[in-house]
Amino acid sequence: MSEYAMSINGKQVRSEAAEDSFAVLNPATEEAFARAPECSESQLWAAVEAAQRAFGSWRRDEDARRKALLTAAERLAEKTPEIARTLCLEQGKPLAQATGELLSAVAQLKATAGMPIPREVTQDDAKAKIEITYRPFGVVAAITPWNFPVLIAMSKIAPALLGGNTVVLKPSPYTPLATLALGEVLNSVLPAGVLNVVSGGNDLGGQLTSHPLVRKISFTGSIGTGKKVAQAAATDLKRVTLELGGNDPAIVLPDADVQALAARLYWSTFFNCGQICLAVKRIYVHETLFEPLTAALTKLAQSTVVGEGLDPKTQVGPLNNAMQLERVIALTDDAKRRGARVHAGGERLGRKGYFYPPTVLSNVTDDMLIVAEEQFGPVLPVLPYRDVEDAVQRANATHFGLGASVWGRDLARAAEVAEQIDSGTVWINQHVALTHKAPFTGAKQSGIGRASGRWALESFLQEHVINTNRG
Ligand code: NAD
Repeated sequence: MSEYAMSINGKQVRSEAAEDSFAVLNPATEEAFARAPECSESQLWAAVEAAQRAFGSWRRDEDARRKALLTAAERLAEKTPEIARTLCLEQGKPLAQATGELLSAVAQLKATAGMPIPREVTQDDAKAKIEITYRPFGVVAAITPWNFPVLIAMSKIAPALLGGNTVVLKPSPYTPLATLALGEVLNSVLPAGVLNVVSGGNDLGGQLTSHPLVRKISFTGSIGTGKKVAQAAATDLKRVTLELGGNDPAIVLPDADVQALAARLYWSTFFNCGQICLAVKRIYVHETLFEPLTAALTKLAQSTVVGEGLDPKTQVGPLNNAMQLERVIALTDDAKRRGARVHAGGERLGRKGYFYPPTVLSNVTDDMLIVAEEQFGPVLPVLPYRDVEDAVQRANATHFGLGASVWGRDLARAAEVAEQIDSGTVWINQHVALTHKAPFTGAKQSGIGRASGRWALESFLQEHVINTNRG
């Protein structure tokens, strides 16, 4: 069974004792196919101290950083087929989508390498010169979940490194391998200690966030863990960015063209087996469109090919892990017990692997767990409404506030409704359409801080003001 290694101070490092590694399962077979090191406390300290040492010179030469990121992008592109296969095996997603995730990470690295680092002069006259530069924090702790391990890791390390920070990255124990491989590739280009990648369980995350040398934490994961990270950060006031869960509503207005939007809405829900923070997680549809929309979504669900990621015909893979499968089963069974109607799916597939088919539910109420909680899986509740105001109120009645969408032909009316929704992003006639031209941010408990494009870069920089008196 292949053994992966961590990147610590530029070296490839295994666990201290052979028995201190852990098995990584293929969710399509439930069988272990590789092992990852369990990082010891002393290895974690070595990684953070290496990052701190590397910071001194890495922060100095902006041009060298840009060049290094571009070369790293080339190396990662060369390794994409190999790492995509690993990602497919450990995460469960179809190989083509795993390849797409790697290529998006390459593109992000290239785009970030070309971003300007802000610098501004707000006064320059006979009285004073006020100059503001933006400088790195130092060692960044980056912690990632299991749904898009490579892309989310890159969304942190590319801007952190361009800004002159150094990084210790910890992936989820369910999907450490592609990230460890990413660390090895990037370390063939970067100076020792600039990017360290360590693997282990949740406790390792806690040790990393409470390490005194870490100055900034960039965390993506659940709201529950995000609160623990915020507490750890508070001890010595580390800066913190939290990208947390969502329970995104989609509101379908009475004038929407159901046939035109059904497939877009469907794949905004079921892509990556519904394991996307920004997936559509509940639909509020005007009562006049409820039947045609439910029928169209059901037809799509029944014709979706569910299977192993390595099979080229597969459109939706398994859920990533047993815990997530149990959660999806529990929320769906709760709805069924309380009278939900199952239009498609609704039962775990009778085969090995964490497979749950695309499921469409109706006759559900807002207080059912499948509507009120984040399912993070392939189950979609469809709820009719009569008045748009009522749909908006129900969409907003949650502590989540990540994304939302409004669907309709009259774009001005859709924008009016979008205006009333309390979330970081509201899309019109689309969903999960991330772009570097806008910040990605969560309202309410869905997060603190901003990612994407220049907002991501700025989140890894702190202002430094020089104010000269010329009087
Ligand atoms: P999780 O919170 O269980 O784990 C995320 C990471 O945190 C893992 O690496 C885990 O090992 C680590 N961790 C666990 N306990 C920790 C602690 N006490 N201190 C520090 N680190 C700790 O989340 P998950 O189940 O891996 O991911 C699913 C969740 O992530 C969903 O809620 C989803 O919506 C959210 N998510 C959000 C975004 C976003 O950008 N907003 C993107 C993807 C996923």
